[in-house]
Amino acid sequence: MVGAGVIGASVAWHLIRLGVRDVLVLERGATPGEGSTGRATGGFRAQFGTAIDVRLSLLAREKLRRFREEVGVDAGYRPCGYLWLARNAGELSALRAAQRIQHEVGLGEARMVAPEEIAKLNPAASLQGVVGGAFCPTDGFLRPLEVLRGYLDGARRMGARVRFGAEVVALQRGASGRIEKVQLASEDFACGTVVNAAGAWAGALGRLAGVEVPVVPLRRQVACTVPCSFLPEDMPMTLWPGDGFHLRVRDGRVLLLRPVPGAADPFSTDVEDGWLADVGRTAGERVPRLAGVALDRARCWAGLYEMSPDGHALLGRTPACDNLVLVNGSSGHGVMHDPAPFPIAP
Ligand SMILES: Cc1cc2nc3c(=O)[nH]c(=O)nc-3n(C[C@H](O)[C@H](O)[C@H](O)COP(=O)(O)OP(=O)(O)OC[C@H]3O[C@@H](n4cnc5c(N)ncnc54)[C@H](O)[C@@H]3O)c2cc1C
Repeated sequence: MVGAGVIGASVAWHLIRLGVRDVLVLERGATPGEGSTGRATGGFRAQFGTAIDVRLSLLAREKLRRFREEVGVDAGYRPCGYLWLARNAGELSALRAAQRIQHEVGLGEARMVAPEEIAKLNPAASLQGVVGGAFCPTDGFLRPLEVLRGYLDGARRMGARVRFGAEVVALQRGASGRIEKVQLASEDFACGTVVNAAGAWAGALGRLAGVEVPVVPLRRQVACTVPCSFLPEDMPMTLWPGDGFHLRVRDGRVLLLRPVPGAADPFSTDVEDGWLADVGRTAGERVPRLAGVALDRARCWAGLYEMSPDGHALLGRTPACDNLVLVNGSSGHGVMHDPAPFPIAP
């Protein structure tokens, strides 16, 4: 297993439960979660626009509900809801079209909401220009690092070996085309199957084996306010699909996000002051209680989504190399989909 983010940890745990022995997890960081997992904001939703994503969320949700029982850790799943606010007829009809798919796939509790109901679900959100929305009460939040800890510690307890400071620098293929050796700077390992769980770096790892893995990084910045109590901790994740602006409360601070095109260096995780000023202004307009609330610059951060060409995960063996398994390209939804039982034969 290359990568000890939430995906590598989950796959290691599930493989051992399926009876696979001798699982070795190699992670170049010094601790778990130094990649994207530790930077995720912890949203969980099944309100997606494609059947594949809705299904993955429903599978994951079942596992999240039993996580403590099964894995022994509280994954922090809290169904506080996701509330989408449309500001024109086009946005509203896109929410309605997505909801039809959600209902077909089994997410019956997602519903369209009128402005009067929106005012009850999130009294702090400005209704200015809002023509309606969508809400699902079983969407909500989870704790990314707890999901990771649960799976990684569990995998270790069941016998997985986990090595930190272990960067894979080469994947050596033999005459049959299979990967025979996984190389670190100063040692190497014979291997049966290699799992690419390298997140936003999956493309680079694939290239070590001469395999094209179409996953590219995309920076996401997060603005974090100073501690404040203007909004309740159980406020639903509230999103404006027109520009993607959304916010939630976590640990007594408000997290503000708005997607913008990536940086010139695709692996940059810099936070831009101009972006912070802009997102802070938008917060004050959309949620008037936040007007003037200071951002805590030192607590703002950025991380990388792992984008696939169509925004869906790439799961399973690759035809380009018989013993390389991909668990890549969750495209910004890797934590919430992580517990879903991925259909990979060991
Ligand atoms: C700002 C932000 C907010 C997000 N919010 C959410 C959210 O609300 N909900 C959600 O579901 N998802 C969210 N995500 C996405 C989520 O973080 C990712 O989808 C998920 O963490 C991917 O997990 P992973 O294990 O594949 O990747 P990672 O956590 O990045 O793990 C990959 C690991 O591979 C290691 N690695 C890479 N190359 C090598 C190598 N050659 N040798 C050894 N180790 C290597 C890296 O060091 C890294 O630790 C968010 C992401 C960001 C950036």
